[in-house]
Amino acid sequence: MDVKQLTNCRVGLMAWQLLIIAFYIAGVERHGFNIAALVNLLLQSMYLAKFFWWEYGYFNTLDIILDRAGYYICWGCLVWVPCLYTFSSYYLVAHPPQISNLAAVGAALLGVATTLLNYRVDYEKQVFRSAPDGKCVLWGKPARYIVANLVTSPGKSRKLLVSGFWGVARHLNYTFELVATLAWCLPGWGLGLWPFLYFYFLVALLVHRTFRDEEKCSAQYGDSWELYCKEVPYRLVPYVF
Ligand code: NDP
Repeated sequence: MDVKQLTNCRVGLMAWQLLIIAFYIAGVERHGFNIAALVNLLLQSMYLAKFFWWEYGYFNTLDIILDRAGYYICWGCLVWVPCLYTFSSYYLVAHPPQISNLAAVGAALLGVATTLLNYRVDYEKQVFRSAPDGKCVLWGKPARYIVANLVTSPGKSRKLLVSGFWGVARHLNYTFELVATLAWCLPGWGLGLWPFLYFYFLVALLVHRTFRDEEKCSAQYGDSWELYCKEVPYRLVPYVF
Protein backbone atom coordinates (compact mmCIF):
# COMPACT_ATOMS: atom_id res chain seq x y z
CA MET A 1 0.00 0.00 0.00
CA ASP A 2 1.28 3.49 -0.84
CA VAL A 3 0.57 5.81 2.10
CA LYS A 4 0.90 8.92 -0.08
CA GLN A 5 -1.56 7.66 -2.69
CA LEU A 6 -3.97 6.63 0.07
CA THR A 7 -3.87 9.96 1.92
CA ASN A 8 -3.91 12.23 -1.12
CA CYS A 9 -5.87 10.39 -3.81
CA ARG A 10 -8.27 8.35 -1.69
CA VAL A 11 -8.91 10.67 1.27
CA GLY A 12 -7.86 14.28 0.54
CA LEU A 13 -9.04 14.64 -3.05
CA MET A 14 -12.20 12.56 -2.58
CA ALA A 15 -13.10 14.62 0.50
CA TRP A 16 -12.51 17.75 -1.64
CA GLN A 17 -15.08 16.51 -4.19
CA LEU A 18 -17.66 15.42 -1.59
CA LEU A 19 -17.36 18.64 0.42
CA ILE A 20 -17.82 20.97 -2.56
CA ILE A 21 -20.95 19.04 -3.59
CA ALA A 22 -22.27 19.40 -0.02
CA PHE A 23 -21.44 23.14 0.01
CA TYR A 24 -23.14 23.63 -3.35
CA ILE A 25 -26.33 21.90 -2.14
CA ALA A 26 -26.27 23.93 1.09
CA GLY A 27 -25.95 27.15 -0.98
CA VAL A 28 -28.88 26.20 -3.23
CA GLU A 29 -31.02 25.37 -0.17
CA ARG A 30 -30.26 28.77 1.36
CA HIS A 31 -30.24 31.10 -1.65
CA GLY A 32 -31.64 29.15 -4.61
CA PHE A 33 -29.96 28.25 -7.91
CA ASN A 34 -27.07 30.42 -9.04
CA ILE A 35 -24.95 29.86 -12.16
CA ALA A 36 -21.77 31.24 -10.59
CA ALA A 37 -21.98 28.77 -7.67
CA LEU A 38 -22.49 25.96 -10.19
CA VAL A 39 -19.42 27.13 -12.15
CA ASN A 40 -17.42 27.06 -8.91
CA LEU A 41 -18.50 23.43 -8.34
CA LEU A 42 -18.12 22.21 -11.93
CA LEU A 43 -14.64 23.67 -12.52
CA GLN A 44 -13.28 22.02 -9.40
CA SER A 45 -15.04 18.75 -10.32
CA MET A 46 -13.44 18.92 -13.76
CA TYR A 47 -10.03 19.53 -12.19
CA LEU A 48 -10.51 16.54 -9.87
CA ALA A 49 -11.78 14.32 -12.71
CA LYS A 50 -8.69 15.36 -14.68
CA PHE A 51 -6.52 14.39 -11.72
CA PHE A 52 -8.01 10.91 -11.48
CA TRP A 53 -7.81 10.47 -15.25
CA TRP A 54 -4.09 11.27 -15.01
CA GLU A 55 -3.54 9.57 -11.63
CA TYR A 56 -0.78 7.34 -13.04
CA GLY A 57 1.20 10.53 -13.79
CA TYR A 58 0.95 11.49 -10.11
CA PHE A 59 3.44 8.70 -9.35
CA ASN A 60 6.17 10.76 -11.04
CA THR A 61 5.49 13.96 -9.09
CA LEU A 62 7.55 15.51 -6.31
CA ASP A 63 5.03 14.26 -3.73
CA ILE A 64 5.91 10.68 -4.63
CA ILE A 65 9.52 10.80 -5.85
CA LEU A 66 10.96 13.38 -3.43
CA ASP A 67 8.78 13.92 -0.36
CA ARG A 68 8.47 11.30 2.32
CA ALA A 69 5.14 10.24 3.82
CA GLY A 70 5.78 12.53 6.78
CA TYR A 71 3.89 15.40 8.35
CA TYR A 72 4.03 17.70 5.30
CA ILE A 73 2.33 15.21 3.00
CA CYS A 74 0.08 13.33 5.43
CA TRP A 75 -1.29 16.30 7.38
CA GLY A 76 -1.45 18.30 4.14
CA CYS A 77 -3.55 15.67 2.36
CA LEU A 78 -5.77 14.67 5.29
CA VAL A 79 -6.44 18.10 6.81
CA TRP A 80 -5.16 20.99 4.71
CA VAL A 81 -6.60 19.84 1.36
CA PRO A 82 -10.19 19.23 2.58
CA CYS A 83 -10.22 22.49 4.62
CA LEU A 84 -8.36 24.99 2.50
CA TYR A 85 -8.76 23.72 -1.07
CA THR A 86 -12.57 23.72 -0.68
CA PHE A 87 -12.67 27.15 0.94
CA SER A 88 -14.05 29.14 -2.02
CA SER A 89 -17.11 26.82 -2.12
CA TYR A 90 -17.50 26.91 1.65
CA TYR A 91 -17.49 30.71 1.59
CA LEU A 92 -20.25 30.84 -1.05
CA VAL A 93 -22.66 28.94 1.25
CA ALA A 94 -23.08 31.97 3.51
CA HIS A 95 -22.25 34.60 0.86
CA PRO A 96 -24.04 34.00 -2.45
CA PRO A 97 -22.12 35.03 -5.61
CA GLN A 98 -22.61 38.59 -6.86
CA ILE A 99 -21.19 38.28 -10.38
CA SER A 100 -23.40 38.30 -13.47
CA ASN A 101 -24.29 35.13 -15.39
CA LEU A 102 -22.17 36.37 -18.30
CA ALA A 103 -19.14 36.82 -16.03
CA ALA A 104 -19.79 33.33 -14.62
CA VAL A 105 -19.76 31.87 -18.14
CA GLY A 106 -16.50 33.76 -18.82
CA ALA A 107 -14.95 32.26 -15.67
CA ALA A 108 -16.17 28.82 -16.76
CA LEU A 109 -14.53 29.13 -20.20
CA LEU A 110 -11.27 30.35 -18.65
CA GLY A 111 -11.31 27.49 -16.14
CA VAL A 112 -12.05 24.79 -18.73
CA ALA A 113 -9.32 26.07 -21.08
CA THR A 114 -6.63 26.29 -18.40
CA THR A 115 -7.52 22.92 -16.82
CA LEU A 116 -7.17 21.30 -20.26
CA LEU A 117 -3.87 23.13 -20.83
CA ASN A 118 -2.57 22.04 -17.40
CA TYR A 119 -3.43 18.45 -18.34
CA ARG A 120 -1.81 18.86 -21.74
CA VAL A 121 1.52 19.99 -20.23
CA ASP A 122 1.62 16.99 -17.86
CA TYR A 123 0.48 14.70 -20.67
CA GLU A 124 3.28 15.85 -23.02
CA LYS A 125 5.90 14.90 -20.43
CA GLN A 126 4.17 11.59 -19.77
CA VAL A 127 4.02 10.72 -23.51
CA PHE A 128 7.65 11.75 -24.01
CA ARG A 129 8.99 9.85 -21.01
CA SER A 130 7.11 6.68 -21.93
CA ALA A 131 8.11 6.78 -25.65
CA PRO A 132 10.97 4.41 -26.55
CA ASP A 133 14.14 6.57 -26.83
CA GLY A 134 12.01 9.71 -26.40
CA LYS A 135 10.79 9.35 -29.99
CA CYS A 136 7.39 11.01 -30.19
CA VAL A 137 5.70 13.84 -32.05
CA LEU A 138 4.70 17.06 -30.25
CA TRP A 139 3.01 19.99 -31.91
CA GLY A 140 3.42 18.24 -35.27
CA LYS A 141 7.21 17.83 -35.02
CA PRO A 142 9.51 15.13 -33.60
CA ALA A 143 10.21 15.97 -29.94
CA ARG A 144 13.59 17.56 -29.21
CA TYR A 145 15.37 16.80 -25.98
CA ILE A 146 18.61 17.13 -24.02
CA VAL A 147 20.31 13.99 -22.76
CA ALA A 148 20.95 14.81 -19.10
CA ASN A 149 23.60 12.84 -17.25
CA LEU A 150 22.63 11.84 -13.74
CA VAL A 151 25.20 13.21 -11.28
CA THR A 152 23.62 11.00 -8.64
CA SER A 153 24.08 7.79 -10.72
CA PRO A 154 27.23 8.15 -12.86
CA GLY A 155 26.96 6.51 -16.27
CA LYS A 156 23.17 6.85 -16.34
CA SER A 157 21.14 9.55 -18.06
CA ARG A 158 17.57 10.75 -18.62
CA LYS A 159 16.03 12.93 -21.28
CA LEU A 160 14.75 16.47 -20.72
CA LEU A 161 12.13 17.58 -23.19
CA VAL A 162 12.64 20.94 -24.91
CA SER A 163 9.68 20.71 -27.29
CA GLY A 164 6.00 21.51 -26.89
CA PHE A 165 5.04 23.33 -23.69
CA TRP A 166 8.26 22.15 -22.01
CA GLY A 167 10.19 24.27 -24.51
CA VAL A 168 8.13 27.40 -23.70
CA ALA A 169 8.73 27.52 -19.92
CA ARG A 170 9.96 25.05 -17.31
CA HIS A 171 6.76 24.88 -15.26
CA LEU A 172 3.86 25.92 -17.47
CA ASN A 173 1.74 23.21 -15.81
CA TYR A 174 1.88 25.30 -12.60
CA THR A 175 0.97 28.50 -14.48
CA PHE A 176 -2.14 26.94 -16.02
CA GLU A 177 -3.10 25.37 -12.70
CA LEU A 178 -2.93 28.80 -11.04
CA VAL A 179 -5.18 30.40 -13.65
CA ALA A 180 -7.65 27.48 -13.42
CA THR A 181 -7.78 27.98 -9.66
CA LEU A 182 -8.34 31.69 -10.06
CA ALA A 183 -11.21 30.89 -12.46
CA TRP A 184 -13.14 28.78 -9.93
CA CYS A 185 -12.55 31.41 -7.24
CA LEU A 186 -13.92 34.20 -9.48
CA PRO A 187 -17.58 33.49 -8.53
CA GLY A 188 -16.58 35.04 -5.19
CA TRP A 189 -15.58 38.32 -6.90
CA GLY A 190 -16.98 41.30 -4.98
CA LEU A 191 -17.12 39.38 -1.69
CA GLY A 192 -13.72 40.49 -0.41
CA LEU A 193 -10.46 38.59 -0.20
CA TRP A 194 -11.67 35.37 1.51
CA PRO A 195 -13.02 33.52 -1.56
CA PHE A 196 -9.52 33.71 -3.05
CA LEU A 197 -7.75 32.21 -0.03
CA TYR A 198 -6.84 28.96 -1.80
CA PHE A 199 -5.53 30.89 -4.81
CA TYR A 200 -3.14 32.97 -2.64
CA PHE A 201 -1.94 29.81 -0.95
CA LEU A 202 -1.42 28.04 -4.28
CA VAL A 203 0.65 30.93 -5.67
CA ALA A 204 2.97 30.58 -2.66
CA LEU A 205 2.98 26.76 -2.84
CA LEU A 206 3.72 26.51 -6.57
CA VAL A 207 6.31 29.31 -6.68
CA HIS A 208 8.08 27.66 -3.73
CA ARG A 209 7.67 24.25 -5.42
CA THR A 210 9.25 25.61 -8.62
CA PHE A 211 12.39 26.42 -6.65
CA ARG A 212 12.25 23.13 -4.74
CA ASP A 213 11.98 21.17 -7.97
CA GLU A 214 14.79 23.10 -9.63
CA GLU A 215 17.06 22.57 -6.63
CA LYS A 216 16.35 18.84 -6.92
CA CYS A 217 16.94 18.80 -10.69
CA SER A 218 20.13 20.84 -10.40
CA ALA A 219 21.55 18.41 -7.80
CA GLN A 220 20.45 15.48 -9.96
CA TYR A 221 21.58 16.66 -13.41
CA GLY A 222 24.33 19.23 -12.66
CA ASP A 223 25.65 20.85 -15.89
CA SER A 224 22.92 19.24 -18.01
CA TRP A 225 20.32 21.11 -15.97
CA GLU A 226 22.20 24.38 -16.58
CA LEU A 227 22.09 23.60 -20.29
CA TYR A 228 18.34 22.97 -20.12
CA CYS A 229 17.81 26.26 -18.26
CA LYS A 230 19.76 28.10 -20.97
CA GLU A 231 17.60 26.48 -23.64
CA VAL A 232 14.35 27.17 -21.72
CA PRO A 233 15.13 30.28 -19.64
CA TYR A 234 11.72 31.03 -18.08
CA ARG A 235 10.10 29.25 -15.16
CA LEU A 236 6.40 30.14 -15.09
CA VAL A 237 5.64 32.97 -17.52
CA PRO A 238 7.64 33.40 -20.76
CA TYR A 239 9.60 36.72 -20.85
CA VAL A 240 8.51 37.58 -17.29
CA PHE A 241 9.67 34.93 -14.78
P1 NDP B 1 6.23 18.37 -12.67
O1 NDP B 1 5.17 17.55 -13.29
O2 NDP B 1 6.62 19.63 -13.37
O3 NDP B 1 7.48 17.42 -12.47
C1 NDP B 1 8.75 17.90 -12.20
C2 NDP B 1 9.74 16.81 -12.58
O4 NDP B 1 9.65 16.54 -13.98
C3 NDP B 1 11.18 17.21 -12.34
O5 NDP B 1 11.58 16.98 -11.01
C4 NDP B 1 11.89 16.30 -13.31
O6 NDP B 1 11.95 15.00 -12.71
C5 NDP B 1 10.94 16.22 -14.49
N1 NDP B 1 11.22 17.22 -15.52
C6 NDP B 1 11.46 18.54 -15.35
N2 NDP B 1 11.63 19.14 -16.53
C7 NDP B 1 11.51 18.17 -17.47
C8 NDP B 1 11.62 18.16 -18.88
N3 NDP B 1 11.88 19.26 -19.58
N4 NDP B 1 11.44 16.98 -19.53
C9 NDP B 1 11.16 15.85 -18.85
N5 NDP B 1 11.07 15.79 -17.50
C10 NDP B 1 11.24 16.95 -16.83
O7 NDP B 1 5.86 18.86 -11.20
P2 NDP B 1 4.91 18.33 -10.05
O8 NDP B 1 5.16 16.90 -9.88
O9 NDP B 1 5.10 19.25 -8.92
O10 NDP B 1 3.40 18.62 -10.61
C11 NDP B 1 2.59 17.68 -11.31
C12 NDP B 1 1.17 18.26 -11.46
O11 NDP B 1 0.55 18.41 -10.19
C13 NDP B 1 1.10 19.65 -12.11
O12 NDP B 1 -0.02 19.71 -12.96
C14 NDP B 1 0.90 20.59 -10.96
O13 NDP B 1 0.24 21.78 -11.36
C15 NDP B 1 0.06 19.72 -10.02
N6 NDP B 1 0.25 20.11 -8.61
C16 NDP B 1 -0.82 20.59 -7.89
C17 NDP B 1 -0.66 20.94 -6.56
C18 NDP B 1 -1.81 21.44 -5.76
O14 NDP B 1 -1.72 21.48 -4.53
N7 NDP B 1 -2.92 21.82 -6.36
C19 NDP B 1 0.63 20.80 -5.89
C20 NDP B 1 1.66 20.32 -6.74
C21 NDP B 1 1.48 19.98 -8.04
P3 NDP B 1 12.90 13.78 -13.23
O15 NDP B 1 13.73 14.30 -14.36
O16 NDP B 1 13.66 13.37 -12.04
O17 NDP B 1 11.91 12.74 -13.69
